[in-house]
Amino acid sequence: MIKISISFKIMKYILYARKSTDEDDAELKEFAAKEKLEIAASLCEAKTAKEPGRMKFGKMLALIENGQADGILSWHPDRLARNPIDGGRIIYMVDTGKIKSLKFPSFWFEDTPQGKFMLNIAFGQSKYFIDNLSENVKRGLRQKLRNGVYPGWAPLGYLNDYKNHNIVIHTEKHKLIKRIFELYSTGEYTLKNLADKFNGLGLTSHNGKKISPGMMLFVLKNPFYYGVFRYKGEMHEGKHEPIITKKLFDQAQVMLKRRGRHHEKKIHNYIFTDFMKCGACGCAITAEKHKGHIYYRCTKKKGICAEKYVREENLTDQLKNIMQKVSLPDDWANNMLNELNKEKKATAQSSVALVNSLNQEVKIIENKLDNLLDSHLENVIDKNDYLRKKEELINKKIGLEEKVKRINDQGDNWLEPMRDFILRSRLAKKTADEGDLPQFKAFLRNIGSNFILQGGKFEFLAQFEWELACRRQAYATWLPIKNIFRTLDWDKIKEELSIFQCGSFPNSF
Ligand SMILES: [Zn+2]
Repeated sequence: MIKISISFKIMKYILYARKSTDEDDAELKEFAAKEKLEIAASLCEAKTAKEPGRMKFGKMLALIENGQADGILSWHPDRLARNPIDGGRIIYMVDTGKIKSLKFPSFWFEDTPQGKFMLNIAFGQSKYFIDNLSENVKRGLRQKLRNGVYPGWAPLGYLNDYKNHNIVIHTEKHKLIKRIFELYSTGEYTLKNLADKFNGLGLTSHNGKKISPGMMLFVLKNPFYYGVFRYKGEMHEGKHEPIITKKLFDQAQVMLKRRGRHHEKKIHNYIFTDFMKCGACGCAITAEKHKGHIYYRCTKKKGICAEKYVREENLTDQLKNIMQKVSLPDDWANNMLNELNKEKKATAQSSVALVNSLNQEVKIIENKLDNLLDSHLENVIDKNDYLRKKEELINKKIGLEEKVKRINDQGDNWLEPMRDFILRSRLAKKTADEGDLPQFKAFLRNIGSNFILQGGKFEFLAQFEWELACRRQAYATWLPIKNIFRTLDWDKIKEELSIFQCGSFPNSF
């Protein structure tokens, strides 16, 4: 039998606890035992870490300087330093390699630029304020929380701006993150599908690794993307720019819940099953594979229903054709969007009153948040109630703010559906070009219903504006399309449209 022995220098730690917090000492010993840390010395500090010049702290650093220990074990960085001098000394000793390891049961430290950045923040972000409940301090704490800088690594799609202690949007990746939420909300993707797709699009983690389904889940569950963050179980409004709306985030959460435990179960074996009905008998259309090709057919047996098979390539061509018909060239879409913006300005005034009242509600919530924090700091309400109530208020506030933004953006209620129509038309072109089949299906489901296969032909019932688009009439001129959305009087529009029997795009309005 061969014995393999690995030898390495065992790191020695100094256990540093604070006398005033009794929990520290016992829990640290337990932690050390669990992590198999060798303790060179245990020091118990009576002074708080607010001011420099603590005796035991100085002794600890001296022991490390002398090489009698290489690391520190403490409950949290805020036990080590709550003033810039001590904090700076620790970081300097990490930099110069005197301190080789820092262990905290309630904080993860890694000797990297990011790790040191976080350590610095942890030194600053102590409970100092809560120790003293003067009005000034309360105001200071509120300010800090209101500043809303997430004290950690930027999530995927963002970057840490170390210079300004801020988190900023990644110029490329943020678009992909938004796309992840949009696609997942369609219900046509599993986490695995998504991971594969976005690996294909070149999305990588911060350290350049491939995206796993687990990471997708992490992204989809992270409220950071709509502008808030949780820190130590508490929700804060972030200062960072959101990538998505709360509305989109909520849609993704609904989908996550719906898929639940069956998450990674394949949705369909073939993309267009569970999508169409047989036009002849009304039965579901299923699919099977023959000699490398996928065929869609009625679930009724041959002889009972006369409908014939359709090859997937053929079906895809038909769908692509529809999407090309309803797609709007970029320059046209942009012209229409410009017109929309003009309309928006004209109608903006009418919504001023509504916006004012919504803003009033936001103010009330802000007051409530302040009162809530005061009650918490004065121990009037317990922590869990505080956290729960705070989360509720913040979400409500963001919902209101998004509503204000929507109103400011759309001005009038017909503008938004129309903008949506134009954007979708523009997207149709891109989707058709990309040839991503789940997106074909999602797109068609968005614009119509009653998908059938009859006589080898794909047909469906499009929403009115999309039916016009299919016939290329909606795009005849600016006026009819605007009327569609403004009057919603379909008969009148039909009449009007008959004047513009226009099969191709005019060059201008
Ligand atoms: Zn049939």
